[in-house]
Amino acid sequence: MRQAVGQFSSFSWLLRFLHGEVMQDEASYTCDGCGEEIVIPLDLSQGMHQEYVEDCPVCCRANVIHIEIDEDGEASVWAELEQDYP
Ligand SMILES: [Zn+2]
Repeated sequence: MRQAVGQFSSFSWLLRFLHGEVMQDEASYTCDGCGEEIVIPLDLSQGMHQEYVEDCPVCCRANVIHIEIDEDGEASVWAELEQDYP
């Protein structure tokens, strides 16, 4: 039952997004390698929790990017260097 409630609130967020009330379509993280702030596009179709590896465009080190989007459409993005990742 709890899961059904969660799915419902995610769905209502999606509706708001489709109506243009959630505008955030990009986010940024700070590269651990060089300290630069890197802006990345948010692909919301990939889900509320995303994780992927991207090379920093400044220092070319591989960052593991973590993205979490909450029910209000607020994205949390953080990164860590791939070599530190277990
Ligand atoms: Zn970098």
